[in-house]
Amino acid sequence: NPLARAKYTFSAHALKQLPADTCREVAFAGRSNAGKSSALNAMTNQHGLARVSKTPGRTQALNYFEVAPDRHLVDLPGYGYAKVPEEMRERWKQVINTYFHTRESLVGLVVVMDIRHPLREYDLQMLDYAVERGLPAHCLLTKADKLGRGEQGNTLLKVRRELGERASVQVFSADAKLGVDEARGVVARWLQL
Ligand code: GDP
Repeated sequence: NPLARAKYTFSAHALKQLPADTCREVAFAGRSNAGKSSALNAMTNQHGLARVSKTPGRTQALNYFEVAPDRHLVDLPGYGYAKVPEEMRERWKQVINTYFHTRESLVGLVVVMDIRHPLREYDLQMLDYAVERGLPAHCLLTKADKLGRGEQGNTLLKVRRELGERASVQVFSADAKLGVDEARGVVARWLQL
C-alpha cells in the first residue's frame, strides 16, 4: 500500500500557513458526513488517521498528511454542514476557492460522495474548480454497502454519464473494503509514488 506511511503533519487554518508550494498534494473534498474520514482511513489503512467525526464539519481546517517526502494528502473541511455559522461558511468558501485557484502543488482532487446522494451542489462546485484548473478529479461513491449490487451499478453508470469528461468515478466502501485499492492507485499515480 503506497499510502500506508501517511502521518498527520499539521492543520492549516489560513492559506498563509500552508507549506511551501513546491510539493505534490491531492485534496479530498466532500459534504460533511459523506464518509471522507473513513475513506482516508481505509486508503491509508490507519484507523485513527482522519478522525471519524461525531460532530461533522466542526474542524474547519486543511489537514495535511504526509505519505512520502513532499507528497501530501489534504483533507479539506467538510462542506454543507448546517450547524457551521454562515459567516464561517462564507470564509471557508473563500479559502477553498483561493486554494483551488492558486495552489501549484495541487495535482488532483478526490470528491467523496455518499452513493445515495451523489453530485450535490457543492460536489459540482469542487469539480468545477478542478475543471477550471485542468486538474484530474476522481469521485468515490462511498457507503456502497448500503445498496445492493444492482443499485450500485446503476448509480455508477448514471453518475459516470453525468460527469462525462470532468472526472472518473468508482464505487467505494470503507466498511466493506470495496474499491480501496482502485482509489489508492489513482492517488498514488497522481502523487508519483
Ligand atoms: P466525514 O464527515 O465525511 O469525514 O464522514 P465520516 O467518515 O466521519 O463518516 C460519517 C458516517 O458514515 C460515520 O458514521 C461512518 O461510520 C459512516 N460511514 C463512513 N463510511 C462508510 C461506509 O463505507 N459504509 C457505511 N455503511 N458507513 C460508512
